[in-house]
Parts: sequence; C-alpha cells; structure tokens
Amino acid sequence: MATTKKDIRALNKEQLREFFVKQGDKAFRGNQVYEWLWSKSAHTFEDMTNLSLETRQMLEDNFVINHIHVDTMQKSNDGTIKNAVRLHDGLIVESVLIPTKTRTTACVSSQVGCSLDCRFCATSRLKRMRNLNPDEIYDQVVAIDKESRLYHNRPLSNIVFMGMGEPLMNYNNVLKAIDKITSPEGLGMSPKRIVVSTSGVPKMIKKMADDAVKFKLAVSLHSARDSVRTSIMPFNETFPLADLREALVYWYEKTKNRITYEYVVWQNINDKKEDVDALIQFCKFAPSKVNLIEYNPIDDGEFQQADNKAIDMYVSMLEQNNITVTVRRSRGKDIDAACGQLANKK
Ligand code: SAH
Repeated sequence: MATTKKDIRALNKEQLREFFVKQGDKAFRGNQVYEWLWSKSAHTFEDMTNLSLETRQMLEDNFVINHIHVDTMQKSNDGTIKNAVRLHDGLIVESVLIPTKTRTTACVSSQVGCSLDCRFCATSRLKRMRNLNPDEIYDQVVAIDKESRLYHNRPLSNIVFMGMGEPLMNYNNVLKAIDKITSPEGLGMSPKRIVVSTSGVPKMIKKMADDAVKFKLAVSLHSARDSVRTSIMPFNETFPLADLREALVYWYEKTKNRITYEYVVWQNINDKKEDVDALIQFCKFAPSKVNLIEYNPIDDGEFQQADNKAIDMYVSMLEQNNITVTVRRSRGKDIDAACGQLANKK
C-alpha cells in the first residue's frame, strides 16, 4: 500500500497544534487529535468522533495512521498469548502476553530480526531487517493491554523488552516509546514496571545511566567467563566482560538500581563449579540478582538445559554468597512464545 502521505504519529503535540493553526483552525484541535492518536489509540480518522466530518476528511487527505495489525494470535494452554504483528511495510514481529497470578506482562520486540548472534536464540537466525519506530513499539503494548483486559479481566501490569531484537541497538526509539508508555498522555504506566533486557552493549548502558532512566535493567549474561561467553554469544569478543562490568558499575553508581542477570545453565557449557565461581565474582562488582531461566529448545538441539544437580549447585553457591537467585519457569512453550523462540515460524 504505497502512499506519499505522512504518518501523522511522527508529529509531536506541538507540531500537530501548529498544523491546525496553519489550516486556520484552533491549536486546541491538535490536542484533541493527539489524545485520539495516543491515549485512545485510534486506528482511523473516522474514529475521532468529536471532530467535524470536514476535519476528519482533511486529516484523511493529508495523513495516514501507520498502525500495526495483529495478524495472528495464538493462545497457549497456560494462558500465554502470542501475537504476530504486521507492520505498515508488511514485515512481521512477535509480542507475547504472559499472565501469572499477580501480574500480566507484555514481552515486546524492539527490532525486526536481530543483528546479534547468540547461538541459542531463534531470533538470531533472522537477519536484522530494521529498527522498530517508537509507535510500533507502543502499539504492541496497547494491543497486549487490550488482550489482557479482554481475556484476563485486568490491565497490563509490566513490560519486558525481551522480544525480538536488541533494545540498546535501537535505543532512541525504545526510549521514545517508553516515554509515551509512561506519560499520562499515553498509558501512564510506572517506569518501575518496565525492564529493558540487553545482551550487554557497554557504551549504551553508560548512556542510559547518563540519561537517568527510571526503568530497570536486565543483562543476558549466561556466562561470566570470556571464553565461554564468546563461544555462545560471539559478539562478546567485541564487548568483553571487563567492558561490560565497567559499564554496569557505572550504571549502579549513577542510578542506584540493582541489575538482574539472566542466565541459562547448559549441559557441558557452563555447568561446572568454575562457572559458578566466575558468576559469583562478577556479581560482586555491582548490586545484582540472578535469574536462572529455563532453556527453551530451538530446532537443531545443539544446546541442552543442564540437569537439576547443576541448577541446585548454582542456587546453593549463590545463596551462600548472599546473592539473590530465582529459578524461573518458562511460559508459552507449546506455541513457541517463550524466551528465545520468537522467529516467525510461519
Ligand atoms: N537482545 C535482548 C533481548 C531479547 S532476548 C537480550 O539479549 O537480552 C530475551 C532473553 O531471552 C535474553 O535473556 C536471552 O538471553 C534469552 N534467551 C534467548 N534464547 C533463549 C532460549 N532459547 N531459551 C531461553 N532463553 C533464551
């Protein structure tokens, strides 16, 4: 659907107000349209029922609303919902709703595909096509909030940037989306309920600290030994652990926010005592906690989750060193909606 009309949501509130003044209308009209576009998430100009027919037609003649569309929705038997979301240019990303007793979490994508090469992650098999715009990120959250109200009778409570892509490689747009999500003119959510998960881009972690962001930080660590980490996350060669560690110390000093380390224990990869020792050392640099996450197998079976004995060793050694550790179970595995399984299987 080729069009030369401009996406109206690329305009901020001030620009919308100016547009209406130029049209000989009141600046206030811009506020009304802004409210329709964001807090009411209108998909069409026709929906904007407090505007005159002429105004709606004039907007139609000048602009488009590049809203995302939920292409397919799959429901898991544990209540998890996965959306395949179609973007205005036909590309698809996935986002997931994860309900638990106390919260409903949206897991959203930040890029189409991913430029990183984590060998255990299905998304890494897709090449990075492009970054998502702020509104494409925002729309995923709105769609999941609607589904949460419809299927679980409650609004969305949390957001994690753990879908497709590396959020810190699309930092500006992620930040703009979070601004809108947390603004009273958007969804009014608390930044404390948002987690940005990164494979660890040191320069961008420092930038986030300088920007004094209020959301939480999770780092996909998986190993605190360079040789091991590079073998499973090859970009670790470019961003080695020493640089990551320095950035994390900087983050903590500036924000006083403790860091969560995401960590999968795999058989014959990081299931030895020396792996736990290295993790314990790494955790001492900045206040942190460890989330041991379950491995979600992807097609070729190269990686296998370690046995319970190895997990128990991690838990007891971390606890002995007063490091908080949680063991997290996966959700939505039956529909390929769990961590690392997002890959547009269709
Ligand atoms: N690029 C970001 C966010 C996307 S991945 C990051 O790396 O953090 C979200 C989380 O899922 C990360 O912690 C990632 O390491 C983890 N993950 C990837 N593949 C996985 C798999 N097959 N099983 C379990 N977790 C996986």
